[in-house]
Amino acid sequence: MNVFNSALTQLKRGAKYINLPPYFIDQLSFPERTITLNFSFKKDSGEVEIIKGYRVQYNNLLGPYKGGLRYHQDVNMDEIKFLALLMVIKNAIVDVPFGGAKGGLAIDPKSLSEKELERLTRLFAKELAPNIGPMRDIPAPDVNTNSKIMDWFADEYIEVKDKKQNVENKDQLKAVVTGKSLQNDGSKGREQSTGMGGFFVLEELIKRVGVKKPLTVAIQGFGNVGSNMAGILHDYGYKVVAVSDVKGGIYDSSNTGFNIDLVRECRLEKGMFAGCYCIGSVCDLAKKYEDGIITNEELLELPVDILIPAAIENVITSKNASKIKAKILFEMANGPTTAEADQILNKRGILVVPDVLNNAGGVIVSYFEWYQNIHSEKWSLEKVNRGLKEKMVKAFEKVWKIYKEKKVDLRTAAYILALQRLAEAKPDL
Ligand code: GLU
Repeated sequence: MNVFNSALTQLKRGAKYINLPPYFIDQLSFPERTITLNFSFKKDSGEVEIIKGYRVQYNNLLGPYKGGLRYHQDVNMDEIKFLALLMVIKNAIVDVPFGGAKGGLAIDPKSLSEKELERLTRLFAKELAPNIGPMRDIPAPDVNTNSKIMDWFADEYIEVKDKKQNVENKDQLKAVVTGKSLQNDGSKGREQSTGMGGFFVLEELIKRVGVKKPLTVAIQGFGNVGSNMAGILHDYGYKVVAVSDVKGGIYDSSNTGFNIDLVRECRLEKGMFAGCYCIGSVCDLAKKYEDGIITNEELLELPVDILIPAAIENVITSKNASKIKAKILFEMANGPTTAEADQILNKRGILVVPDVLNNAGGVIVSYFEWYQNIHSEKWSLEKVNRGLKEKMVKAFEKVWKIYKEKKVDLRTAAYILALQRLAEAKPDL
């Protein structure tokens, strides 16, 4: 089953529990608008390549389209449609006034120079400019994109608009994209927000399922989400015993847990912005833990309390679902578990806590950033984190209530909540 159909299966599973007109589910089964771009892109070497770009504006019942931009060699329309639908669900669950969208470029950004990355990002922004805007469609970071890329994107968008007509308040136009740097009117706390939001949900969950701390955790992925989550969990007494990045991972089988400060230091040293990416951080650490080198596949099957996939989709499938040993699968990546694997895990009694709830912290603080830009405000980190916690806990409590009342799995409960919110906004036909 392709990823998009997998998400539709989950949507329809949720729809069974509420009374919705059939046309409404049909409407949600298709994106409202899909954009495919083909750019001619001149590399530093002078060679010209055709690059594919995508933006899917899935649904805007709850507000302007909103969702990240992903740079990855495997990006394709099916994947972007799937991720855009997840954004519709996610934004509805945490009650931010946004619809859902997603976009991306089918490139391996790590093979590009910084100059190439900037030119390509500006080209992408220019091509998308007629279809996006602070009240229309608001991109953000996702896999392999960061604040630097969002700054280029915002700058190019504003330049395009300014050429067409003199723009009076350029600062407000920055709300066209979130996840910008602090110097460029980004929000305090946005960098850590996805990990922080996940942590708030995890703490609520732990209170209810009655497992005893300290808990061991394995985290797959060491980008923005995985590395921040690792740091936060370490600070709050969890034992992070395995981490990985694209090149592989490390495992501390003594269950002492890594010193995540070391991981952080390493990350800083390599520089998130040196050439735009943090390369080889986990691999460098591996030198210190030579016995514990593992593959990404092995990491998923470790005997830990909590498994956190925080990289890409489809890593837990019908092939390895029966081998997962964690008690709790806490999804921080978008779509790490296929629909088939989900059913196997549910039957095995593994508690699967879904992506659309856990990783919504990013888009919540994106909403705060957008709001600050529009209203020319600057919030303190305390205010941002307070707001983030409030929204995450509220969403968790609502999902938990549905989970208990309807005796469904947590993902179905989350989809039910999203569908209820979307149904309230449905226009009468
Ligand atoms: N890319 C993030 C996500 O998948 C954030 C999206 C946003 O802030 O718009 O939720």
